[in-house]
Formats: sequence, C-alpha cells, structure tokens
Amino acid sequence: TKWVYSFGDGKAEGSAEDRNLLGGKGANLAEMSNLGLPVPPGFTITTELCTWYYDNGRKYPDELSDQVDDALEQIGKLVGATFGDTANPLLVSVRSGARASMPGMMDTVLNLGLNDETVGAMAKLSGDERFAMDSYRRFIQMYSDVVLGVDHYHFEEILEVYKEENDYTLDTDLSADDWKEIIQHYKAAVERELEQPFPQDVKDQLWGAISAVFGSWRNDRANTYRRLHNIPESWGTAVNVQAMVFGNMGDTSATGVAFTRDPSTGVKEFYGEFLINAQGEDVVAGIRTPQNLTKASREAAGATAPSMEEAMPEVFGQLVDIYKKLEGHYRDMQDIEFTVQQGKLWMLQTRNGKRTAKAALKIACDMVDEGLISSEEAVKRVDPASLDQLLHPTLDPDAERNVIASGLPASPGAASGAVVFTAEHAVECMQEGKKVILVRIETSPEDIHGMHAAQGILTTRGGMTSHAAVVARGMGRPCVSGAGTIRVDYAAKTFTVGGVTISEGDIITIDGGNGQVMQGEVPTLQPELSGDFGKLMEWADKARRMKVRTNAETPADAETARKFGAEGIGLCRTEHMFFEAERIVAVREMILADEHDKSARKAALDKILPMQRQDFTDLFEIMSGLPVTIRLLDPPLHEFLPQSDEEMEEVAAASGVDAAKLKQRAHELHEFNPMLGHRGCRLGISYPEIYEMQARAIFEASIAAAEKTGSPVTPEIMIPLVAMKQELDTLKARIVAIAGDVEKETGKKLSYLVGTMIELPRAALQANNIAETAEFFSFGTNDLTQTTYGISRDDAAMFLKTYTEQGLIEQDPFVSLDPDGVGELVKIGAERGRSTRADIKLGICGEHGGDPASVAFCETVGLDYVSCSPYRVPIARLAAAQAAL
Ligand code: ADP
Ligand code: MG
Ligand code: MG
Repeated sequence: TKWVYSFGDGKAEGSAEDRNLLGGKGANLAEMSNLGLPVPPGFTITTELCTWYYDNGRKYPDELSDQVDDALEQIGKLVGATFGDTANPLLVSVRSGARASMPGMMDTVLNLGLNDETVGAMAKLSGDERFAMDSYRRFIQMYSDVVLGVDHYHFEEILEVYKEENDYTLDTDLSADDWKEIIQHYKAAVERELEQPFPQDVKDQLWGAISAVFGSWRNDRANTYRRLHNIPESWGTAVNVQAMVFGNMGDTSATGVAFTRDPSTGVKEFYGEFLINAQGEDVVAGIRTPQNLTKASREAAGATAPSMEEAMPEVFGQLVDIYKKLEGHYRDMQDIEFTVQQGKLWMLQTRNGKRTAKAALKIACDMVDEGLISSEEAVKRVDPASLDQLLHPTLDPDAERNVIASGLPASPGAASGAVVFTAEHAVECMQEGKKVILVRIETSPEDIHGMHAAQGILTTRGGMTSHAAVVARGMGRPCVSGAGTIRVDYAAKTFTVGGVTISEGDIITIDGGNGQVMQGEVPTLQPELSGDFGKLMEWADKARRMKVRTNAETPADAETARKFGAEGIGLCRTEHMFFEAERIVAVREMILADEHDKSARKAALDKILPMQRQDFTDLFEIMSGLPVTIRLLDPPLHEFLPQSDEEMEEVAAASGVDAAKLKQRAHELHEFNPMLGHRGCRLGISYPEIYEMQARAIFEASIAAAEKTGSPVTPEIMIPLVAMKQELDTLKARIVAIAGDVEKETGKKLSYLVGTMIELPRAALQANNIAETAEFFSFGTNDLTQTTYGISRDDAAMFLKTYTEQGLIEQDPFVSLDPDGVGELVKIGAERGRSTRADIKLGICGEHGGDPASVAFCETVGLDYVSCSPYRVPIARLAAAQAAL
C-alpha cells in the first residue's frame, strides 16, 4: 500500500481532490505545489494509515518506515540537507491535518531534527547562533509538551523567571547565550519530569511526533470537537512532514496569517497579522502584539508598528499576488499561513476560511457579483444553521451603554450575562439555565466546552486570529478579544478596568460587532432581514421545491414567521392556546367535568368557544392567502390538572362543583404514562364535544377571517395520534357534521380539509388505509421518534448523552431525524399514503422541520413542505434549497 505522498518543487503526488486521503492541509499543500507556489517540500502520511494504526493496536505497517525514509531523502535532495546530518541537517515540521479543519485540536511540532549536535551545525550554516538556539529551545518545549507530555508551564516558568532575573521583557531581547542557558534548564526539567533525557536521536524524534499526531486524533479535546461538529471518528487524520522554513532568522524574516477577505464582516479586504522575527504560532499565541498586514488596516487601527506592506513591500507584493491567485483558484475566501525567511516568501497553508454568518452571506453575494460563482453555488455555500446568528437581536444603538472597556470585534452579535472565569463554571451555570459571559485572559482548547456553554466570550489578550476568536466565530458565539485594559484576577474572581471592579456573577454585555464591553444589560434590537440576507433567500426560494411553513399558535409567532418567509402554518397546537391564565380555569372545568356529565362539559366548552374562534380568526388573518393547519387538542391531560388546593378551589368556584369531588376526579384521571395515555384522538373519541367545539370555532373563524380579508380560507383540520383508520372515520364524521351545521346556520359554503398526524408506527404502516379518509398527512416526528425508539423525550437526556459520548449514535434522534428507523417509517407512510390518494398533501411538523439534515431527508422522500419554529424558517428555506440543488 502507498501510505506516503510527496509534494514540493512545483509538483505533488496528490491534489486538492485528495482531501479524504491526505486531509485538508495535505491536500492543499499538494495543490499549492501543483500551482507552482513556493511551498517547502514535504510529504503526507495518509488518513488511511491513521485508521490502520487504530485497527492494529497502535502499530504501523512494516512498509511504512521505508516509504518515510524515501520521502525524507527526497525532501533532503530538494533543500540540500540531510535529516540528522551533523554538518548540514534537515529540519522538519510534523503537522496534523484532518479532512475537516479542526483548529487547535491537533498539535504541530516545529524544528524537529535539532539536537545538541545539529543545533551547532545550524548556527554555523546560518551564521546566526541566536537563531539556532531560539529554534532549539522552541523545539524542546513543543516536543516535550506535545509528544512527551511535559506540560508547557514548566518551560514558561523557566523563561519567565529567567527574563525577570535578567530584566528582559520581550523574547527578542534574549541573546544566543541566554537561550543556551535556558536550553540547559529546559533539558534538566524534562529529565526531572521523565527521568530520562530529552531524545537526541532524530529518528526517535520523528516517530515520536508522528505517533503523537495520530494519538491526538482520539484525545479528549479532539473527541469534544468532533462531537460538537459531527465529524465521524472513522475519518482519521493525516500527518504532514515538511521542511522547515524560518521566520525567526532576524528582521528580514517573519511569520503571519491572513484572510483574503475580512472573516468577520466579509468585506473584500486583505486582512491579517504578522510578526517579524518569529515562528509558527507566535502570531496567534498572543506573545507579542502582532502587526497589521496592510497600511490601510494599520491606519484604521491607529497602530504605530509598521505594516507588512510598509516594512517588506516587495514580499508583501508577492503575497498579494499569491492570495489573489489562490482565491481565484479555489473560488472561495482563503485563510493562509506564510513565513518569510530572509526576504523569501513561503506558503505553509491555505484553506477555505472560517467566517461568521454575516461574512458568509456577504462573501457569497459578492462572489456572485464578481462572477466568481453562480447564485446556486452561493446558496450552497452558506451553512443554513449559521443563519441563526443573523436572526437574533443586536444591541439597540440608541440604548445607553456604560462602556467600560473595548477590545477587538472578534465574533459578531451581542450578549449579556453573568461574569464567570472558568469553563467549568460556565458549564455549571448553563445547566442551571443561567446566562453567562466567559471572561478569560486567553482561551485554549481546554475551554471549548465552556465557550459553548456561554452566551459570549471576552478575552484580554490575543488578536482576531487568536484561539478565542476563531473558535467563537465557528460556534456563532459573540466574542470580544484582546481587551487589553482589563486586568483579570482569577484568584479573587474579579476583573478591574478603569477603576471599575466587576465580580463573578455581575452582569456585563459584550458587542462582538464593535468590541465594546459594557457594565449591566443593554437592550437589543431585531435583526435586519434585507440586503445580502434577502438576496440569498431569494435565490434559495428559487431553488427549492419544498414549501416551508411554521409551527405557531400565537399571533406574535405567526407574524414573526411570516416575516421570516413562512408559507403558512404547518402546526397550530391548540392546547398551547389553553394555557393562558384567563382560560385555564374553563379548561380545567371541562377536563374535570364528570365523565358522564355532558352538559357540565358543554358549559365549560361554551366558555372556551369564543376565545378559540378569536384565536383562529387572528391566525387566519395573519396568514391570509396561506394554508393553516390546526391540530385539535392533544394534551397529556396531567399538564392541565390543577396542582395546588388554591387552583382546585378556583375551578370549584367557577363550575359550582364541590372541591373534594373535583379532587377525586383529578385522582381518577391520573395516568402512569401520560405520553402513551389518554391523549390526542383518544380524547376526541371519549369526549367528542371537545373536538366539535374546536371544529366549530375553526369554521366560524374561517368565515369571519374570509369576510375581513376578502380572501377565502381553507383550514386544514388535523387529528392527532391516530393509530387506525376507524378513529379518523369516527372523528371526521363529527367534523363534517359540524361543518354542515355551520353552513346551515350561516348560509355559507365551507371549504376545508381533514387530515391526520402520522406519529405512531401503526399509522405509518396503515397509511394506505388511513389515506382513504385523510386528505393530508403531517408527520409528527417528535412523537414518531418517541414511539419508534420506545423512549420518552423527557427521560431520554440521561442516557442519550451516554450514547453519544460512547459513539453508539452520532446524533440525538430528537435533534436530527433518524433516517434509518424513523425515516423509514416516514418513507413507508408517504408511499402507502400516495398509493391510495395520489395527490395527498404531505408535510412534517416535528422539531426536525428546522434541522438542515432532516430537511434534506424530507426532500428525498418528496414531502410537500416542512414546518418549523418561526426563527428556524429561514434556515429551513435555505436547507430546502440546498437539498434540491
Ligand atoms: P495548525 O493546524 O494548528 O494551524 P500547523 O500545522 O498549520 O498547525 O502549524 C502550526 C504553525 O507552525 C503554523 O503557524 C504554521 O505556519 C507553522 N509551520 C508549520 N510547518 C512549518 C514549517 N515547515 N516551517 C515553518 N513554519 C511551519
Ligand atoms: Mg495549532
Ligand atoms: Mg495552520
């Protein structure tokens, strides 16, 4: 088997197409080589090897070591050096690279191949002893941390103490001799911690690093990241070994990162940061404040340190040419890493840049205007789930703001919450339902779960490309980074800035759009839905086949949904209309009425009828011209039962029935398993008056709304929890009779549909029979998931979490429709329904209707529409378009 693919010198064995095999980084290094860009030569060990490694008890196939030796030799030939040679040593980096980019998850080792002898050769060759020693101390620290498991703080402490003792502030203040001394301390620290010396054999170093990369594929951080981003474990990571280029060879050398467009706003401006005389991750690590790339951005930031454009105009020009070439080639915004070694530019990475939803929209729309991509491509580019970030409120610009500090606008959106200082605390607060802002000096991959739990993130160190900024943008969390005037005191659990002290638990607000940090909570405004958002939605609407409706019962929700482009109501849960304070007593009267006392129930229902009629009239008016599906009552009864004595008295007074008797009745109604109990159409069969009242309210409302708006209303009446045709027959007959009554009473002709939810496996299997009566189906995939799996959603959290953690399932089936089981039933239901009634209207109204993967599934089944909560309507519109393209 070929496990190793080389690149460099204007050619490569792989290309961008080989992402699955070579990982994202390896594939793009190959592609850049093929494009003739200056890429240090190297090779990639494939992701297949990673899989092999884990399948075989963390061992390697025999042929691997020869393949690696050959590839190393080839690198050596290209750069004119030999790995481990004491006169002219080749140094390499060992870099991980999964299929999907996993920032910060995998660990890279630089300057590998240095030891006590080769470091001397490097000093001689470069004529710069300081550079050689600087590289060696970096290597010892990185290798010890990543490969040997000696925590980096050991080294940081040594360096801090040394700097303090010698009155140095910056790393660049240290001389060759200083570094030599520090190296001695470093090596001693390693020996002390591990009881063996730092490895001097370069081959040992290489294989140690390769194994560390493969090993890191299954470390906790990587596991968490994969879980959050649904990346399967089976993909594996590749390892890239690449000749080192040095950004730390003095003032004509530098290292930097850049985005071809602004990843926060999407504005078409070359954007990034660099550091002179530095290496690798110095820029993102916040060790020194990085400098701007362009003169314009330096001026905009009011910075004094020269930009790259000013400090290295020639190299900057080459970089601009390259980024343009890359963006044109990939037809997408690129995130690039580069290093300048003594005035020569080297490209170390390119990938499609992560961006905020706002930037994704703008870039997609701009690239259509620029003729780089088609509008369909633009629709495909934007992650539907990310739209969520745009649909939520921003700070009211007119509201008073008590700005106490300001940092970089690292990830847009506004958030308020109580200050917490640790990721763990953030997670605890989230579990208690509290909103928090995570405040850190800087974040590291260990903080990811806390960042996820927080409403927003505030750091006092680090730039726009710092860990906090990159991860927050990916998660859609607002983030302000590098608010340098804030002093955090972790021990005291406070931070201070400009004389103000904020303690843990105090409320602050951050605005990730402009970098402001405010004391207290600041009111917010609704999002802007025109502009690029409107444009993309228009393209999406053109591309999609399925309609998108909303689940709504209140006028406010219905209005929001319509504003977001809902094309009707797919689910109006009438029981939600019953919870209002003024109604609940009448509802309780109705439920608690003696089983055989029809007139008592009727009396209670008569009180509810006008309220329901008004509810439906409002909805029909708001959705004028669009279909509205109303589901008849489906409450688990216990949700309505009075709990306290006080509530019981209230119902007793309203109904004139003795409280003790009511209590007795409530007791009778108690169910052991309400989810599978007396609910849905079963209630309608036992107490037909309830559905009759609702049907009447619907019909009368449809007449009233049609008169008011002048456009006809065709309500879709939906019967819940049907298991068999007979239930539907019985109830439909009653509804038809009520329709007849209303027509007679009003002299108006009614138009309406009667259909059913398909939310029990039996209903899906019996769909051909049920469709004889039902004029439409709506798949209620929440209940269908419960009843198919035989799990209750309310109790599932406890064990489903373990299931996901252990990898038994990839996704919570209540979040994303299980295509294999539940989906199979949906498919069967749809097919059998159509076999009886070819034009039967089919939709889905579970929470899944707003989940992009589930929407894609619905497209494959050929449903007519999906229905979801109002805020997810745009997400569903875009997801439906992507599913159709
Ligand atoms: P990550 O995936 O965390 O970005 P990388 O493998 O890209 O990790 O490397 C970390 C840093 O080291 C980056 O700044 C990268 O540009 C730098 N780097 C990697 N390989 C080399 C090399 N051969 N020469 C110089 N710098 C390198
Ligand atoms: Mg890294
Ligand atoms: Mg990188």
